[in-house]
Amino acid sequence: MKLRKVTAASAAVLALALSATACGGDDKDASGGSGSSGGEKIKIGIKYDQPGIGLKEPDGSFSGFDVDVATYVAKQLGYDADQIEFVETKSADRENALARGDVKFIVASYSINDERKQKVDFAGPYLLAHQDLLVKADADIAKGADLNGKNLCSVTGSTSAQNVKDKIAPKANLREYSGYSECVAGLQSGAVDALTTDDSILAGFAAQDKYKGQFKLVGEKLSNENYGIGVKKGDTATVDKINTALEKMVSDGSWEKAVDANFGPANYENEPAPKIGVVVK
Ligand code: GLU
Repeated sequence: MKLRKVTAASAAVLALALSATACGGDDKDASGGSGSSGGEKIKIGIKYDQPGIGLKEPDGSFSGFDVDVATYVAKQLGYDADQIEFVETKSADRENALARGDVKFIVASYSINDERKQKVDFAGPYLLAHQDLLVKADADIAKGADLNGKNLCSVTGSTSAQNVKDKIAPKANLREYSGYSECVAGLQSGAVDALTTDDSILAGFAAQDKYKGQFKLVGEKLSNENYGIGVKKGDTATVDKINTALEKMVSDGSWEKAVDANFGPANYENEPAPKIGVVVK
């Protein structure tokens, strides 16, 4: 028998796709924002610039843990991968995108918190990450407080930027950009001394070929970031369906496969799968 050579990552993604196909749901739902499409497409919000989490590749395809979670959940809701239309939802745009109905749901490193719960509903959590710092490999920044007086980058509308102002380093010069790739460029050029956000995101950047050896994660667990899937406020039917899908993704092994495929190359040591409905404070 002739075997096609596949990388570990693509084999895992293939396995994920096959297992998703094997147990696809059939309750086709109305798509978010597409109105007359008759439920044929579903719009899902993701990040476009977070390697390992949500990334739009140069060829127009998408990769990352959130992309795999979104694809699995969509399948359970009755949508094949080719019926998904991914839409970029930057950190500061997520609540509005859901309120406007631009997307049916958002899988975009979206931490569940009380402030956001006023505006949107969350399914999950499906991943527990922690806020950390990314600095140049030779930098002597070892903890959050070392950032006071330093230039620190984070993204507008993120919990990371808020935490810096409120507790981690109130005297840091916080530069808020609209995306993480801008912060990484600033770190490389020396415009900022550190970038702070979830360790899951930072590990993905640090492992990119173009940055290999240049940066290090400090290793501080500055917060608990419980990633949820954001849904329009009041759409409890979709929350329930997504929660059922997430439980299945864990129990059939697809969650672990997606973790290995996406975080393995970045050497990111993830926390175990969270329990649905249990947010770690
Ligand atoms: N998980 C954090 C948040 O939801 C930071 C990552 C992001 O900006 O998406 O704000």
